[in-house]
Amino acid sequence: MGVCYLTPKARIASLGLDGHGAVATEFIVAGEVIAAFGGRCVTREELDLLPIEQQARSLQVENDLFLAAGTEPEPADFIRHSCEPNCGMHGNSVLIALRDIAAGETVAYDYAMSDGCDYDEFECTCGSPECRRKVTGHDWMLPELQLRYRGAFSPYLAQRIAVLAGVGAERRAFSY
Ligand SMILES: [Zn+2]
Repeated sequence: MGVCYLTPKARIASLGLDGHGAVATEFIVAGEVIAAFGGRCVTREELDLLPIEQQARSLQVENDLFLAAGTEPEPADFIRHSCEPNCGMHGNSVLIALRDIAAGETVAYDYAMSDGCDYDEFECTCGSPECRRKVTGHDWMLPELQLRYRGAFSPYLAQRIAVLAGVGAERRAFSY
C-alpha cells in the first residue's frame, strides 16, 4: 500500500523520451491539493544507504530529515521537476497548484522549493525557457527563485531564506 496521495484529477502518462509524469485529467483550480508525500523519516546518513533511484524519489522536509520513498514507485513519485512549475510546496510535504491547471497539462514543481542539499542533483531537460539545465540542492539560494517562489518553499527553506535576508536569525541556528 502506498504512503503518498495524488489527486484523482491527475494520472500517470508517458511523456515520450522523457519517461513518465503526472498529467492533469481535468481542470484544477489554483490552491487545490495535488499531492501529499509520505515515507519513512530518515537522516541524510540513512538516506545515503538507499539505492540512488529510491533517493531520487525521496523528499527533503527539514535540514537533515527526508521522507524516504518505498522500494516500489507509487503515482505521486511520478510528479516531475520543472523550471517553470505550476505547483508549489504547502508545508513540507504537501503540493498545491500555484495557478489554474488545464486538463492535459503536466503537473510539476521546482525541486528548488523542497531541496536544500545535494542528494538529488541532475541535468534538467524540462524544455522551459527558464530552464537552469542543471538542478542542484543550492538552487533555493538563487535570488530570482526566492522572489518567484515566495510562499511556495518548504518551511525549512523559507526559514533559511529569511535568515539570509536578516529576518528571524535568532529563531533557529542551522548550517548548510
Ligand atoms: Zn529545467
